[in-house]
Amino acid sequence: MLRTALLAAGRSRACRAVVERAPVTREVVARYVAGSTLEEALGAVAALTTDREVTLDHLGEDVTDAAQARATVDAYTRLLAELARTGLAARAEVSVKLSAVGRLLPRDGDKIALDNARRICAAAAEAGTTVTLDMEDHTAVDATLGVLAALRADFPDTGAVLQSYLRRTEADCRDLSGAGSRVRLCKGAYDEPESVAYRDRAEVDRSYVRCLRILMRGAGYPMVASHDPRLIAIAGRLAEDAGRGPADYEHQMLYGVRDREQRRLAAEGRRMRVYVPYGDEWYGYFMRRLAERPANVAFFARSLVSRG
Ligand SMILES: Cc1cc2nc3c(=O)[nH]c(=O)nc-3n(C[C@H](O)[C@H](O)[C@H](O)COP(=O)(O)OP(=O)(O)OC[C@H]3O[C@@H](n4cnc5c(N)ncnc54)[C@H](O)[C@@H]3O)c2cc1C
Repeated sequence: MLRTALLAAGRSRACRAVVERAPVTREVVARYVAGSTLEEALGAVAALTTDREVTLDHLGEDVTDAAQARATVDAYTRLLAELARTGLAARAEVSVKLSAVGRLLPRDGDKIALDNARRICAAAAEAGTTVTLDMEDHTAVDATLGVLAALRADFPDTGAVLQSYLRRTEADCRDLSGAGSRVRLCKGAYDEPESVAYRDRAEVDRSYVRCLRILMRGAGYPMVASHDPRLIAIAGRLAEDAGRGPADYEHQMLYGVRDREQRRLAAEGRRMRVYVPYGDEWYGYFMRRLAERPANVAFFARSLVSRG
C-alpha cells in the first residue's frame, strides 16, 4: 500500500512541488544522489573508483519535449568526454533511460529515442566505455528491447536491464543470454499490475533466482543488481556452478545503499559497480528509493515534522 502510494506520488506534479520545497529534502536526497553538477558527480566517482567501478545516470525521465531530450544527450556527451579526459572511463560506464531521450514524445518517440541513444553510444565508444539502457515500467519493455537490438547492431556491448518481478522476464533472459550480451538483472522498481508482474516479494525473489540461473548458464555477462544478502550469496553459488570466475559477472548496487557491503565484496575480489545518479531531476528516482524501504519513509516523515 505504502509502496504503491509513494510510487504514485513519484509521478504527481503536486506532490513533487511539496517534496522539493521541504527544507530537509536536500539532506535526504544527498544520500542517494551524488550531486547536481557534473563536477560533483565526478568527485564521487573518483572516490568510488579506488576500489569499485561505476555506472553514471544523468537524472531525468518522462521528457515530453524534444529540446529537453537533446539537452540530456548533450549532458551525456559532456560526461563521457570528461570521463575520457580524466582517465576514469576505464572504470565508469553510463546508464540511460529512453524516456529521458525522447521515447514518450508524441510523434516518432521511439525513433527519436533510438537516434539519441545512438549518439550516446557513439560518444561512449569514443571514450572507451559502454552504455546500459535502464528499464522503466512494463509498458516500456518491448520498445526498450527493440531499441536495444537496433543499438547492438553497431554497439554490441550495449547493456540491457531485466526485472524479475515481470512474468515475461525468464523468457527475456533466455533471449538475451547469448555471447557478449550484458544483462543487468534487478527486482524492478515500478508499481506493476498483477496481470504482468509478481506482487509477492517471495515470488519476485524466486523469479530472480530462476532468471539469474539462466543468465549465469548462458554465454553473456550477468550484472547482479541487488542489495539483498540472500540473492548476493546465491549469485556467488550460481556463478561457481556455471564455472564463472570473478571476471565473468559483476555485482551492482545503488549509490548510498549498503556501502560497507559494496566495499566488502570489492575487497573479496568481486567486480562491484555502483550506480551513481546526479543532476537536478532527482524527484522520480528519489521517490522510488523511498518506496523500496519503509524505514526511509519514517525517517523522511520525521525530518519533515521536526524541521518543516
Ligand atoms: C545498479 C542498479 C540498477 C538498477 N536499475 C533499475 C532499472 O533499470 N529498472 C528498475 O526497475 N529498477 C532498477 N533498479 C532497482 C531495483 O529494481 C530494486 O528496486 C532495488 O534494487 C531494490 O531491490 P533489492 O534487490 O536491493 O532488494 P530489496 O529486497 O528491495 O532490498 C534488500 C535490502 O537492500 C537494502 N535496500 C534496498 N533498497 C534500499 C533503499 N532504497 N534504501 C536503503 N536501503 C535499501 C535494504 O537493506 C534491504 O533490506 C536498480 C538497482 C540497482 C542496484
